[in-house]
Amino acid sequence: MASMATYLFETEEHAALRQQARRFAERHIAPHGAAWEEDEEFPRALYKTAAEAGMTGIGYPEALGGSGGDLTHTLVVADELVIAGKSVGTVVGLGSHGIALPMIVRFGTPEQQRRFVVPTLRGEQIAALAITEPGGGSDVAGLTTRAVRDGDDYVITGAKTFITSGVRADLVTTAVRTGGTGHGGVSIIVIEKGTPGFTVSKQLKKTGWWASDTAELTFDECRVPVANRIGPENAAFPMIMHNFASERLALAGQCVAIAELAYRETIAYARQRQAFGKALTGFQVTRHKLADMSSKLAAARALTGEATQRVIRGEVAAALCAQAKNVATDMCSEVVDQAVQLHGGMGYMRETLVERLFRDARLYPIGGGTREIMNEIIAKVEGY
Ligand SMILES: Cc1cc2nc3c(=O)[nH]c(=O)nc-3n(C[C@H](O)[C@H](O)[C@H](O)COP(=O)(O)OP(=O)(O)OC[C@H]3O[C@@H](n4cnc5c(N)ncnc54)[C@H](O)[C@@H]3O)c2cc1C
Repeated sequence: MASMATYLFETEEHAALRQQARRFAERHIAPHGAAWEEDEEFPRALYKTAAEAGMTGIGYPEALGGSGGDLTHTLVVADELVIAGKSVGTVVGLGSHGIALPMIVRFGTPEQQRRFVVPTLRGEQIAALAITEPGGGSDVAGLTTRAVRDGDDYVITGAKTFITSGVRADLVTTAVRTGGTGHGGVSIIVIEKGTPGFTVSKQLKKTGWWASDTAELTFDECRVPVANRIGPENAAFPMIMHNFASERLALAGQCVAIAELAYRETIAYARQRQAFGKALTGFQVTRHKLADMSSKLAAARALTGEATQRVIRGEVAAALCAQAKNVATDMCSEVVDQAVQLHGGMGYMRETLVERLFRDARLYPIGGGTREIMNEIIAKVEGY
């Protein structure tokens, strides 16, 4: 049987973390994941359970209630949660703090960290990140949600869309325009649930990721204290771009995990499914398809691991992160497509895991910066 692949950077510490994450996912996600995906929701209580099991604080400083570690640790945990939990929607919903909190950890005041980071890592609050707007997501510097200073408050008007965990979020790390046009006029402000004028205007229906909620949010003269601004005014664009680099690695890692899961499911199916008097693995074409899947997976895992290590070393790796995301998303799309194909008619049935993974995979060349925007970043760094 094919053994589970790991990242080259893994140590015994990562192996122990994998075991811990696997136990959590097998116990708390796998038995319910398929039903939660159909229900388009997982219980809010899972945030607390995950925090208590040590799943939420990985990659955060111990002083804030985290358990330390870096991107390599979050990557292996996500790997196990997806593979053992078998519900991508649950994992991404549970993990929305991973894009919402890092800017507060890096640039927030101790008071902001106490208010926003600590309770989220305890599983008591849900955090979301809101950058994308109905008028456009790729052109972040063009965002139009306006925050006008009025004494000790900002008055915020505008809308955000496609926000992961936005329906249930208690705090939304929101990109707003506090200054003039372009990237020099953008700030980050945390907007809290219950603030008058802040509404969840729509819960969106999606192709995949069903267990995670996705929202359109509206801000109608929403008054938020200046104390909720993260970092200096009009200086958020580089903060957002830095956040994107680790988000893209996390998305690449999810692609590797989804493909690994689809690949393993397909091996198991092809071994037991009979056609023309033999198992599907008895046909050379099946074995070659599986071999191609495993090769592409190995390449994407290696690149994702390398990009992660270079980011941790402090290298400027925007292009490498973009390359890793594109390679991993394309690999994942191909692997899940072949997984469906090898399942035949069963591959098209809602009861089959690879059918759901096929739908989940479609998000990755779009979310966290599209394939085309990744290529723009690569082209800019390469200088052509
Ligand atoms: C399920 C889901 C969850 C999401 N979660 C979040 C979240 O939590 N927070 C958040 O802020 N956002 C979130 N997003 C939004 C996501 O990041 C955006 O959808 C994405 O960045 C693309 O923006 P857009 O949809 O506005 O597309 P557009 O920017 O309108 O792009 C449309 C098309 O034009 C192409 N295009 C645009 N500009 C160029 C260019 N210069 N050159 C070539 N092609 C170009 C794009 O590549 C794309 O193919 C989520 C999206 C989805 C679907």
